[in-house]
Amino acid sequence: MTDKIYSTAAYAQTMDATVVGTDVDDGRVLLDRTVFYPGGGGQPHDIGELWVGDDRLAVHRVTADREGVWHWVRGSLPSVGTRVRGELDWDRRYRIMRTHTAMHAMCGVVWRRYQVPVTGGNMDAGEGRLDFELPQWDSEDKPIVEAELNAQLQARLPVEVSFLPREEADKDPGLIRTKINLLPSGLTEVRVIDIVGLDRQADGGTHVDSTGEVGTISLATVKSKGRGFRRFRFTLDT
Ligand SMILES: [Zn+2]
Repeated sequence: MTDKIYSTAAYAQTMDATVVGTDVDDGRVLLDRTVFYPGGGGQPHDIGELWVGDDRLAVHRVTADREGVWHWVRGSLPSVGTRVRGELDWDRRYRIMRTHTAMHAMCGVVWRRYQVPVTGGNMDAGEGRLDFELPQWDSEDKPIVEAELNAQLQARLPVEVSFLPREEADKDPGLIRTKINLLPSGLTEVRVIDIVGLDRQADGGTHVDSTGEVGTISLATVKSKGRGFRRFRFTLDT
């Protein structure tokens, strides 16, 4: 299994690693450790570069399976045992971290105001989409929710990562905010992202340390998706 550096050190941009597996057909390498997020929970996978000495390989896709984290590269594959250096496209990743934290903060704001769960979500660098089961919505609510979210972001709330034993997590149904994102049965430990005082949920993604790093957001649209479901789209202002 790959040591997932991103899971505990979201700000790590580079790593030294060793190739522990190759897949020539797909053009991908398995590494013993990585800062590259493989995607999941609505957060897209990272992109970046792998350096083999002075040779640069572009990492255009990252995936995870039972064996670990695979780095899909263009060019000739380094063989098992080769030492490589990985480097993230940090501008993109940091923007995704800010976007992801904004999404959790939005979940917290909507939960506080309407006590409704999020039913799905997705993001790209700088823009997020969240679906809520929210029948009681008025267009006048949009600027109110936007202002409340920006107030929470500007309050510079700390964002903490912790790991809970599975049994403890199961006793806290509030942790599993997304109905579609139930915990896999084999999981023994659950990673929790806590925007202190605002939102706490099980999550595998990468986040900033404080909501202050997000800056402000604009709630671009809120559209009805039928049967009381609403789709929120927001963008980071900077
Ligand atoms: Zn998340």
